[in-house]
Amino acid sequence: MLNLKNFSAFFIANWKLNGNLAFIKAYFDELKVNRANCVVICPPSLYLNKMNNNKENLFSGAQDVSRYNKGAYTGEFSAEMLRDLDVSFCIVGHSERRQNFNEDNITINIKVSNLIKNEIIPIICIGETLDQKKNNETIDVLKKQILDGIPDISSDQNTIIAYEPIWAIGTGLTPTLDEINMVHNAIKNIDSKLNNYRVLYGGSVNSSNSKKITELKSVAGCLIGGSSLKIDEFNNIIR
Ligand code: PEP
Repeated sequence: MLNLKNFSAFFIANWKLNGNLAFIKAYFDELKVNRANCVVICPPSLYLNKMNNNKENLFSGAQDVSRYNKGAYTGEFSAEMLRDLDVSFCIVGHSERRQNFNEDNITINIKVSNLIKNEIIPIICIGETLDQKKNNETIDVLKKQILDGIPDISSDQNTIIAYEPIWAIGTGLTPTLDEINMVHNAIKNIDSKLNNYRVLYGGSVNSSNSKKITELKSVAGCLIGGSSLKIDEFNNIIR
């Protein structure tokens, strides 16, 4: 498993259901990775073995994994299969999976555990809806997602958390820097075991706001959706 301590910041590109072979070729031709940072590209899994990771500190990640390890589960792929393809990271519990595919914290817990056993670093996404934010429920929601979704086998050496307010994903809206800092510190204080976890921020990150966000001490990097599809924009973010 990768040593997370080797990196000063993490930038995770979540392509979602976008990209094709021509896009991948053009993207990797242009991608400029900075030495100190860990850059992880998460394409649709079908393309994981087409990635061109021949640069230092550049890795592949999956956007999801099956909760099952093998058997009669048509359409699924396992953590062991991801490992076979040298995949180093995997996003788990993205809000789009929670909302569109009914993924719950128990399923996320199982997926995270399977990934760690296969030496793949899970990036566990947590976040509140706008209603929950307005009702001051943010920390309670995050606490439940964390306590139910993170297995005992997880530690700051093998797991990353991404705080992604659902209302900020793909909307152009972001929390203030103070809010991000406050929530990240609250996440680390939910349990003493979480004190040293790397917590990424995700939700409408672009080249204009990424620097200020990643300069916050409580923020270990960003998970980037829309802006990761534009290579110039992404190069500026990871610079
Ligand atoms: C995401 O999908 O995790 C995300 C953060 O998307 P965007 O950057 O487009 O808001």
